Amino acid sequence: MKVDNLIIGAGIAGITLARRIAEEKNESVLLVEKRNHIGGYCYDYRDLEGILIHKYGPHIFRTDNTKVYEFLSRFTDWYDYQHKVLTYVGGHYYPMPINLDTVNNYLNTNYSSADVIEYFDSTRVKIDAPKNVEEVITSQVGKEFYNQFFKNYTEKQWGVDPSKLPPEIVARIPIRANRDDRYFSCRYQGIPIQGYTQMLQNMIDHKKISVLLNYNFYNHRDEIDAVNVYCSAPIDEFYEYRFGSLPYRCVSFKFERHNVEKYQPVSVVNYPNENAYTRITEFKYFTNHQSKNTVIAKEYPSGEGDPSYPIPLKENIKLYEKYNELAKEESVTFIGRLGTYKYYSMDQIVDEMVEMKL
Ligand code: UDP
Repeated sequence: MKVDNLIIGAGIAGITLARRIAEEKNESVLLVEKRNHIGGYCYDYRDLEGILIHKYGPHIFRTDNTKVYEFLSRFTDWYDYQHKVLTYVGGHYYPMPINLDTVNNYLNTNYSSADVIEYFDSTRVKIDAPKNVEEVITSQVGKEFYNQFFKNYTEKQWGVDPSKLPPEIVARIPIRANRDDRYFSCRYQGIPIQGYTQMLQNMIDHKKISVLLNYNFYNHRDEIDAVNVYCSAPIDEFYEYRFGSLPYRCVSFKFERHNVEKYQPVSVVNYPNENAYTRITEFKYFTNHQSKNTVIAKEYPSGEGDPSYPIPLKENIKLYEKYNELAKEESVTFIGRLGTYKYYSMDQIVDEMVEMKL
């Protein structure tokens, strides 16, 4: 089979790139995907009652990047959703990220914003340049809030002690002294009104793009003759693990249907401490879906399953760099979270793809 461009993996990275190549270069693009659906981890589908279910966990699109937002907006309208998260600690729900109400409810105080700033100033561990997750959080809020709200969640999520993890992991989580209870404060935020799958399907609806599903590239390596190769699958797998496996964190989901209109007060509740799962997502909130029943998913991180999160430890990045050297020699371009071994959010991935020099 001869094509101008081969893209391995039909997730948001591969599909964004496919669309650009087709439109801007007018070249043929073949997307090959091992799963039976497009969309990668953004894939969503409708359940019996029409609730849009995010099969691989909650995906909330947000960005400050106008170019990224405008690019995707060609293919979808947005449901204007503001993400709110609660965290369940000691039998109570608290706003997450930590804000004025979290502090007052947890400490049973009536602090003003100025009081909270003063309180954290007295409890914070004095570190000027935090070097890991533990230091980032304790240097802002002190040990008590760190232990209750971050320590166990992070350990469970990443399978690594937070003192070993780099600061970027929690960079997206602010600490607030006001009552803002939004999870993200980006300029643009929303959920594709017909779902991510439909948005991505609209992107690949182009005469120059074809897609093969249920197609494991590694079983057909020699059958495709492509001028350019892009890969959003794990880079270590592409090179047959010749330097060893890159560690990834995996997540699995236990879906439950409940005969109640609402199961929990917001779309996502975090469970940092007692439970094996990190969070419970109730999907109907994402598009304000009205139905008698509801669907939730409990999220369990583990070391086994399909790779989901790259684990950005120094030694892992070093190993990734070794693979990346091979990539440079062979003129294969790696893209997306798994191809570049980066803890990217959706907008960062789309940004890379819209800015990539073709
Ligand atoms: N985090 C935490 N407690 C929480 C929420 C987040 O300790 O209640 C930390 C944890 O290390 C997590 C990181 O912050 O991996 C980023 O959280 P986010 O919800 O953005 O993660 P994602 O949705 O990408 O899994």
